[in-house]
Amino acid sequence: MNAPVVIVGTGLAGYNLAREFRKLDSETPLLLITSDDGRSYSKPMLSTGFGKNKEADGLSMAEPGAMADQLKAEVRTHTRVSGIDPGHKRLWIGEEAVYYRDLILAWGAETVRVPVEGDASDAVFPINDLEDYARFRAAAAGKRRVVILGAGLIGCEFANDLILGGYEVDLVAPCEQVMPTLLHPAAAAAVQAGLEGLGARFHLGPVLTRLLRTEQGLEAHLSDGEVLPCDVVVSAIGLRPRVDLAAAAGLQTDRGVTVDRHLKTSHANIYALGDCAQVDGLNLLYVMPLMSCARALAQTLSGNPTAVSYGPMPITVKTPVCPLVVSPPPRGMDGVWTVAGQGADIKALCHDADGKLLGYALTGTAVLEKLAFNKVLPPLLAPLLA
Ligand code: FAD
Repeated sequence: MNAPVVIVGTGLAGYNLAREFRKLDSETPLLLITSDDGRSYSKPMLSTGFGKNKEADGLSMAEPGAMADQLKAEVRTHTRVSGIDPGHKRLWIGEEAVYYRDLILAWGAETVRVPVEGDASDAVFPINDLEDYARFRAAAAGKRRVVILGAGLIGCEFANDLILGGYEVDLVAPCEQVMPTLLHPAAAAAVQAGLEGLGARFHLGPVLTRLLRTEQGLEAHLSDGEVLPCDVVVSAIGLRPRVDLAAAAGLQTDRGVTVDRHLKTSHANIYALGDCAQVDGLNLLYVMPLMSCARALAQTLSGNPTAVSYGPMPITVKTPVCPLVVSPPPRGMDGVWTVAGQGADIKALCHDADGKLLGYALTGTAVLEKLAFNKVLPPLLAPLLA
């Protein structure tokens, strides 16, 4: 039998690539392997689930069996790939060898964990997939007070969502503003003020050092000496693309599995996309880039080599108390920021020396102007010249 095209991972990258591939090729055997339960879901919904009162089952869009039928593929769930042998075009699942025609790594990123002392370190929950979300919902059921570690995009989204779901929220992060790597300070101040208006309490500067059980619940001890009583802790301190198995197999890695504009790794017949991939130097852990990669790679796998390009890719942050859209300037393009507006309505724009718009951060009513700005933003990865 012909060796299949093998996709490792059934997140948005894996399943969307499979869908795009099947539009072009209905015959080549296709195998998807995942260490999770293989249900299809939209990960961005994980940070709006409490406000909408959705259990994990309510966020699942399809069971793996239905996905297998739809994709005319085999889907192996709860199956962890443990090694890759590029020389023999095979991968390992423990002792079992699986041969591939082409191998696609869509195995995502893992949550960064920091060691926490104390007898309650098991009450710290990362939320990076549907199973994490189910575990956290079970732990938070009937509880009231949540500490969120991290004030990045995901920490802020969870803060807004958990408050909508009826929880009290404290955010703890060792930074001076929310979303420090993404946002102009004026826009960050607007988002923080919006969340504070909902009742969120920010503790910017310290880190969590110890988590202890008490008769009333938990105590979170911070590095500045403050002690926060709470019931459960969410960890949202960052994601790290999975590279270990690729590096062990001799594939080039950096801040992700390194791939070129054709999504090809340093080894023939092995590709990568989604959160695990560093595409032409860019690691963008968002949905729009992986959708562009899925379309391009499906073409390449079907015999029509296609380079991926990215247009502008603004990010809509799900903090409904203070709507926010942000489009950071493309790498290597520096400019000057100007800020207009006040309070919740901030328009921070970044222009180059010739007056061309490079990026923006818009909050509140300024978000309404995003379409006009998007038309003139530079692409993040311009199309390759023929
Ligand atoms: P994943 O969804 O992480 O999938 C990885 C897959 O690989 C899983 O199936 C896993 O089981 C499998 N796997 C891993 N290792 C192995 C192994 N060794 N063997 C077998 N299988 C393995 N982006 C946006 O653009 N907009 C948003 O609003 C937004 N909101 C977000 C909210 C939250 C809470 C989070 C966490 C992320 C959000 N993102 C958002 C980011 C976006 O969801 C991700 O970029 C995207 O879902 C990543 O998909 P992926 O398929 O690359 O990775």
